[in-house]
Amino acid sequence: MIFLDNNSTTPVDQIVVDSMIPYFNESYGNPHSVHHIIGNKAREAMEISRNNIADILNVDPNHIIFTSGATESNNLFIKGAILKDLKNGKKKNKLLCTNIEHKCVLDSCASAKDYGYETINIPVSSSGEIDIDWIKRNIDKDTLLVSVMTVNNETGIRLNVEQINQICKENDILFHSDMAQALIGERFDIGSLDFDGISLSGHKIHGPKGIGLLICNKDPNDNLDPLFHGGLQEQNIRSGTTPVFLSVGFAKAIELLYENFDENKMHILNLRKRFIDILSPDKNPISINFCPENGHPGLLNISLDTIEADMFCTRLGNRVALSTAAACSGINYDYSHVLKGMGYPDEIIKSSFRLCFGRQNTADDAERAAKIILEEINLINSLI
Ligand code: PMP
Repeated sequence: MIFLDNNSTTPVDQIVVDSMIPYFNESYGNPHSVHHIIGNKAREAMEISRNNIADILNVDPNHIIFTSGATESNNLFIKGAILKDLKNGKKKNKLLCTNIEHKCVLDSCASAKDYGYETINIPVSSSGEIDIDWIKRNIDKDTLLVSVMTVNNETGIRLNVEQINQICKENDILFHSDMAQALIGERFDIGSLDFDGISLSGHKIHGPKGIGLLICNKDPNDNLDPLFHGGLQEQNIRSGTTPVFLSVGFAKAIELLYENFDENKMHILNLRKRFIDILSPDKNPISINFCPENGHPGLLNISLDTIEADMFCTRLGNRVALSTAAACSGINYDYSHVLKGMGYPDEIIKSSFRLCFGRQNTADDAERAAKIILEEINLINSLI
């Protein structure tokens, strides 16, 4: 089985697994217990993780909130900002996000309607561009926040978030970016981006599932109100016992990512190139929708002319792992809202799938996967 669905998740690096083991049943304390050494040891490990992440990403450790993943981070920033505004007397009434965001951003923004906020979807062109003048025309003094992902999870395209953040800054609007897919392609200095909120996910970077980060550029309490109430952990914004083993694993995953960044990126780019060479789209009934230059280095979005992609991915399901859209959309068997949002016709959307190379993949994986995919296309076409 060849795993080419590294956008949905990545295998946990063995070094990350090893780093977490002591925090299951050796140093198992509750990091928020203050009276004994077992709790203190756990807290120390958690704070070392937070400080290591802060050092690597160049952010203030007090502005880092451990969450359960990017879904929670996105919900926490968007809904937390709404709750804060409501508490301040509802000074704003509008949110903006692109129509190609992950569903957790789209639906968090849509839920703002229940509190009397309107959400406007920012259009994205068929090549993945956002018109900055459109944003300027559609924001005003009543706009609370703008949320734009840095790298899309189905096309791999990098959006011009720095420019949008700048406009938001000039207009006193909060800017948030879902960066869950962004870290593999670019060695970000997160601090210098100066976004009000950034969401990250452990399992997209060979870390564990069930942990994410919300990183703010100031005290999170300035812009957000909590969604959960309880023990006031995580800068008073995210109550609940912080999972020490997951925080240790996330910190190790970020450390490994930044340590071997160029080498891994080059490896992934080479795998994608080798795969495309064998696939030979000019000679076969295949079109490459997206193969981003400066976004996700491993991502390829492909359409298969006459073959239905859902059926194709399922047929290959025990040989090559591919997907038609984000795993979180897959639960409802929806076709890609991302391609739809970018104006692609239904025939292309229905015949499109994405695949993504990860650093654990080998040249042999790339070669075999391309051959298996071609064989399957030929087989299906011979049966039609
Ligand atoms: N945002 C993006 C862009 C994603 O790709 C994903 C994962 N599918 C998420 C958010 C959700 O992340 P998590 O699984 O950590 O909640």
